[in-house]
Amino acid sequence: MCADHRKTPPLNPAILEELACPVCLSALRLDESRLQCVGCGRLYPIVDGIPVLIAERASVPGPE
Ligand SMILES: [Zn+2]
Repeated sequence: MCADHRKTPPLNPAILEELACPVCLSALRLDESRLQCVGCGRLYPIVDGIPVLIAERASVPGPE
């Protein structure tokens, strides 16, 4: 087994329970290195382990 690069979450998962989407107040889940809102689907960046829950910084899943 060469499982040297195990996935370490960029953020303490316990923090997720304390956070909510600033737009729709839904819960957030960890998606790769970002947080995704389970309500509106916005993706919030995590910078240096700190989730940036700012609506203007979020990526909105594109309804064209
Ligand atoms: Zn949301």
